[in-house]
Amino acid sequence: MIDLRSDTVTKPDEAMREAALTADVGDDVYGEDPTVNELEAQAAELVGKEAALYVPTGTMGNQLAARTHTERGQEILVERESHIYKWELGGLAQLSSLQVRTLDGGERGIPTPEQVREGYVEEDAHRPGTGLLSLENTHNSKGGVAIEPEKIEAAAAAAHDLGLPVHLDGARVCNAAVALDVPVHEVTESVDTVMFCLSKGLGAPVGSMLAGPEEFIAKARRNRKLFGGGMRQAGIIAGPGLEALGNVERLADDHANAKALAAGLDDLPGLSVAEPETNIVLVDTSDSALDADEFLAACEEVDVIGSKFGEQTVRFCTHWDVDSADMETTIERVASVL
Ligand SMILES: *Cc1c(COP(=O)(O)O)cnc(C)c1O
Repeated sequence: MIDLRSDTVTKPDEAMREAALTADVGDDVYGEDPTVNELEAQAAELVGKEAALYVPTGTMGNQLAARTHTERGQEILVERESHIYKWELGGLAQLSSLQVRTLDGGERGIPTPEQVREGYVEEDAHRPGTGLLSLENTHNSKGGVAIEPEKIEAAAAAAHDLGLPVHLDGARVCNAAVALDVPVHEVTESVDTVMFCLSKGLGAPVGSMLAGPEEFIAKARRNRKLFGGGMRQAGIIAGPGLEALGNVERLADDHANAKALAAGLDDLPGLSVAEPETNIVLVDTSDSALDADEFLAACEEVDVIGSKFGEQTVRFCTHWDVDSADMETTIERVASVL
């Protein structure tokens, strides 16, 4: 089976299993797990923030950021195809009592400074006031596009001028940095807080990081306990997470594999596939006889699996557990079902 549903499907390698086995541990709720403390310090450094917090999932990291930045009843500005809005069970409403206002970030999913200013609501006798702008990089629904630091900076500056903090859903921000060939902290420089996943392309079995100013992270730590995310001897999973931080450069392989896969699939009759910037390949089946469900079912018959992303759109995601030979095999197998 060639599993291209997500970059979350990878299994930990030997180094990660060894790190889990040998991790020095303590009770992290008391701040006494040396492995978690080391992971938080290194993660903060990677994204250029004062402090970081280890969280079980990216979803918890995003939702904690929203909860910690805002007051109940405020508005949050999000991109209309963003993960925090579309794929987190309405958590912004359920966990933080936020009203969502969406901005259409266009083809690359990044709102302009004008859109941020237009979307902003000033608190008064009738209006709730905006509490946070949330951005996403790479943008998952837009096909893993790597948004340039200048674009992030422009939207963030517009928010900051209005007194609004900015959170970045950077689940795959390391992919963005590698694709743009800049250090990760350059991509995260203009945002106040950033969440990134250890459990996707970086290959860890579990875990994500939320990073930002020290005072913010202290507040988020209390909210993590509230959300049920205070973990005990978490060094057992943070150890593999530390290994994962060493895998940033490896993401270039996933990007090369995605490009090869996209080019091969685009050559097949009926499929149209744009060149990917990172590890996400969106396959448009509109010119074939198959819709997304039928295409996925046909692929599964030949042991290739992906995810539905629209009525005529399928996502294939490359990762550590597939290689360039798997890309060639995938192209051959997909050709056989068309
Ligand atoms: C995967 C993902 C998340 C959530 O991460 P989980 O660990 O699956 O909860 C958040 N944002 C984006 C853009 C993602 O791709």
